[in-house]
Amino acid sequence: MFEPKDETLIKKMHQKFDPTMDGIASLLKEYSAEYDAERMNKAYNLAMKAHLHQKRHSGEPYLLHVISVAKILAGLRMDENTIIAGLLHDVVEDTDFQLEDIRDEFGSEVSLLVDGVTKISGLKYQSKEEQQAETFRKMLLSMASDVRVIIIKFADRLHNMRTLDYVPERKRPRIARETRDIYASLAHRFGIASVKWELEDLALKHIHPKNYAELVNKVQLSREERERYIKSITVPINQEMAKSNIKITISGRAKSLASIYHKMKKRNRPFEEIYDLMAIRIIVDKVEECYYALGIVHSLFNPVYDRFKDYIAMPKINGYQSLHTTVVGPQGKMVEIQIRTKTMHMLAEDGIAAHWKYKQANADEDENIEKAINWVKDLLNRQISNEGSDEFMEDLKIDLFHDEVFLFTPRGDLFKLPMGSSAIDFAYAVHTNVGNHCIGAKVNGKIVPLRTTLSSGDQVEIITSQNQKPSQDWINFVKTSKARHWIKKYLREVQEVQTR
Ligand code: MN
Repeated sequence: MFEPKDETLIKKMHQKFDPTMDGIASLLKEYSAEYDAERMNKAYNLAMKAHLHQKRHSGEPYLLHVISVAKILAGLRMDENTIIAGLLHDVVEDTDFQLEDIRDEFGSEVSLLVDGVTKISGLKYQSKEEQQAETFRKMLLSMASDVRVIIIKFADRLHNMRTLDYVPERKRPRIARETRDIYASLAHRFGIASVKWELEDLALKHIHPKNYAELVNKVQLSREERERYIKSITVPINQEMAKSNIKITISGRAKSLASIYHKMKKRNRPFEEIYDLMAIRIIVDKVEECYYALGIVHSLFNPVYDRFKDYIAMPKINGYQSLHTTVVGPQGKMVEIQIRTKTMHMLAEDGIAAHWKYKQANADEDENIEKAINWVKDLLNRQISNEGSDEFMEDLKIDLFHDEVFLFTPRGDLFKLPMGSSAIDFAYAVHTNVGNHCIGAKVNGKIVPLRTTLSSGDQVEIITSQNQKPSQDWINFVKTSKARHWIKKYLREVQEVQTR
């Protein structure tokens, strides 16, 4: 294994950072996760050595980035291997350490996770077209052999977005758009609300800096008034609930900046005219208490017709459960109130990531939660049935993508071809003329024979020559009917000319 010799620098880093893994350990203790401290420490030390001489754009040691990623993962209560992979996620890509080093030290599961993250980190989303975003998301899912690879990528992107201010300005918009279109969107579909909102807000900050600054300002200015208003709703609810034996936690907050921004855009209204800026959340212990609380709320404030949704009886497809109601509060303002149990709340915030939590904690799971967890298990086992054509389900049917590969042009355009497709198939997919005149291909910068089979994520450039013509043996190397059709057509035409 590669070993850096700079002992003084290593010592300095040990002084700079907490030797008990800089807060990761205490975070893990907080939810009393079982983990192998020695193994975790080994990963921490490997990451420190590997990134020893690297700095972030901010000037801080690179180690800080991988610690932050591991902390985000610990906060999502991911399993030990995922947190270790988080610590090591940039080691293979950026340092002299090899994947074999990681496998030898930490086993194949960690090395598979790191390998997965390395592979998808090389992919850049360039396009501005909406349908390309959809294809890109599918490609990511198809390349991630394990859902945890995507979750590590969420954590990586979240920390990169939190520190995007240090990245050169010209690079920020592309990264922010990729974050919004790809990662925030996937986090939403994975049901990880906490990650989704933060990614969306940070993306907005760098895509529309001016609007963002304005919004921050206005939300800040209206804060006191909003807090007073929230109290005018929560206090009476608390008083009524206190008459029963039900324990509730009630909180109010401004909605995320991104969601306020979307509302303004959608309704074409200024900030001052968006009234449902706040959401109130009631958290109770048991399912039946949710309905009791709902009754109290409706007895105190008039519900808005048509805005009540029972996601407890009918959970969203990503497992989300809650009661939603909108009521008319004081001064005639509309306020959304969400009511849910603690367990539902945890699921709503962490979505698919909650699966690992439940494996660790033996929480008192009620039947409904069990159902939602089972859904995640199904997903992980890739046994999602074909029922329901919901967009969310479609996206998560990773299994279906196993017979497809996703490929890039040098410009970043995406093509989806059947598994086993060759460079010739790709050439015909780009354009019939490109297919008919292709003489060679570059895959990821290397010149390869035309018969080369392509794999997901490959960047493919086709070399053409006007003198080149399709040949008989090409038929053996193509998978797509389009390529076969045009090759045969050409060969037939040649034959006709010759036999004439
Ligand atoms: Mn990273």
